[in-house]
Amino acid sequence: MDQCVFCKIIKGEIPSSKVYEDDKVLAFNDINPEAPVHILIVPKTHVQSIMELDENGYNIIGHIFKVASDIAKNLKLDKRGFRIVNNIGEDGGQTVPHIHFHLLGGRNLQWPPG
Ligand code: 5GP
Ligand code: ZN
Repeated sequence: MDQCVFCKIIKGEIPSSKVYEDDKVLAFNDINPEAPVHILIVPKTHVQSIMELDENGYNIIGHIFKVASDIAKNLKLDKRGFRIVNNIGEDGGQTVPHIHFHLLGGRNLQWPPG
């Protein structure tokens, strides 16, 4: 998608602070962190949300959770815990229409969300 900010990051047209990359996914630091650790993990193929995934897309989401688990372990977040968030649509608070998973940690996260 030409105008998608995350597609531009994936293509290297917008710089990002990369945390992890393979042929299917990219993980990079959020530009406006809400916690000491705030990483976004995105599939490299443009899909708006979980509502539009095909079979292969669902497999990649599974892979994203494996990547999130590896990153959390590397950053030693696994002992105290952390959060994975996927916002969907307007009421869900999604501002970038390219599916992404927030990995948040490094502080005590409050619940419920606002
Ligand atoms: P959403 O609100 O859609 O769930 O999350 C979008 C996230 O993308 C926000 O946390 C926002 O800070 C982040 N974001 C938006 N534009 C950029 C950008 O150009 N670079 C990076 N690294 N993060 C971005
Ligand atoms: Zn995109």
